[in-house]
Amino acid sequence: MHQLTCMSRQGYFCTAMEIMPMACAFISDTYECIGQNRECVALYGFAGNEDKMKRIFDLAPQYQADGRLSVEKSLEYVKRAFEGESGRVRFEWILSTSEGLQVPAEVTLIRMDTGGNYVCAAFINDLRELKEAMASLDKISTLAFKDSLTGLYNRRYFMDRLNFEFRIFGSSQKSISVIIYDLDKFKNVNDTYGHPVGDEVLQQVSNRVKTVLRARDLLARYGGEEFIVMLLDTSADEAFRLAERLRDSVCAAPIPYNGNEINISISLGVATKTLPQTTMEKLIESADKALYKAKNNGRNRTEACSGEL
Ligand code: GH3
Ligand code: MG
Ligand code: MG
Repeated sequence: MHQLTCMSRQGYFCTAMEIMPMACAFISDTYECIGQNRECVALYGFAGNEDKMKRIFDLAPQYQADGRLSVEKSLEYVKRAFEGESGRVRFEWILSTSEGLQVPAEVTLIRMDTGGNYVCAAFINDLRELKEAMASLDKISTLAFKDSLTGLYNRRYFMDRLNFEFRIFGSSQKSISVIIYDLDKFKNVNDTYGHPVGDEVLQQVSNRVKTVLRARDLLARYGGEEFIVMLLDTSADEAFRLAERLRDSVCAAPIPYNGNEINISISLGVATKTLPQTTMEKLIESADKALYKAKNNGRNRTEACSGEL
């Protein structure tokens, strides 16, 4: 009777596995693969050579994407499925096919009682298409939000984020500061060294500025050789001090390029919103005016918007 239950349950599981539209295999408590469906054989590419799939988790590169040894990782998860309370685990896995191709997958192990004996059903989800789709999405969002030369956020992204902050905190007393800076006499750099060198300088200046900013500050390329920073919860004094540190970081040392030393400075305008009614347009316009003042007052300096905003 016991034998019969066991047989019928196993038979039921095997039939279910055959019609599964995804790769699945049965793993014994000695960690051997004791059966797999057609999808699984097709995924691994061992048709006619199924005995090679006996140690199915050995069909993997030495290391997994998380840096763990495949042997250790697979043993741990199979053990957890057999011995853990829930009897199920899910993990990311890279498998190797018969042709040596490495395939990213997600494995779900479910412990099953076949009538006194336990086996684990392993459902192996091929993630190649998903990963490719995610990579394309990543590329698209990079193109949409980032500036290709400096890798910084672009103006559109910046404006969306600032708009978002204004919608949340705009009507409160919370201070939001903006710094706009522009490279001084940058046309001379292009004229003297050429446009590609100018591009390199824009990248170097961006890298220097990034080292000074805090994790929550948002830096973007506003256009040409003009950049903008959003500083949340930052008072006018703090914003001014930070702007001065940005200026120092850029002009502290010349930028080396092909044996040349290129002296660069920036001018900065700072504005801070403290009044609930101040709009985002007004904040940017005020920072822009302060920048204009910094240029007029001799460049390589910071000016703050006067009066309360
Ligand atoms: P000021 O101190 O008044 O800002 O002088 P400036 O020479 O920096 O200003 P101007 O507006 O006369 O020139 C800006 C220059 O920046 C001209 C433009 O060709 C250059 N520029 C804008 N974008 C880029 C870019 O992506 N790469 C390079 N190499 N140059 C750029
Ligand atoms: Mg300029
Ligand atoms: Mg400019």
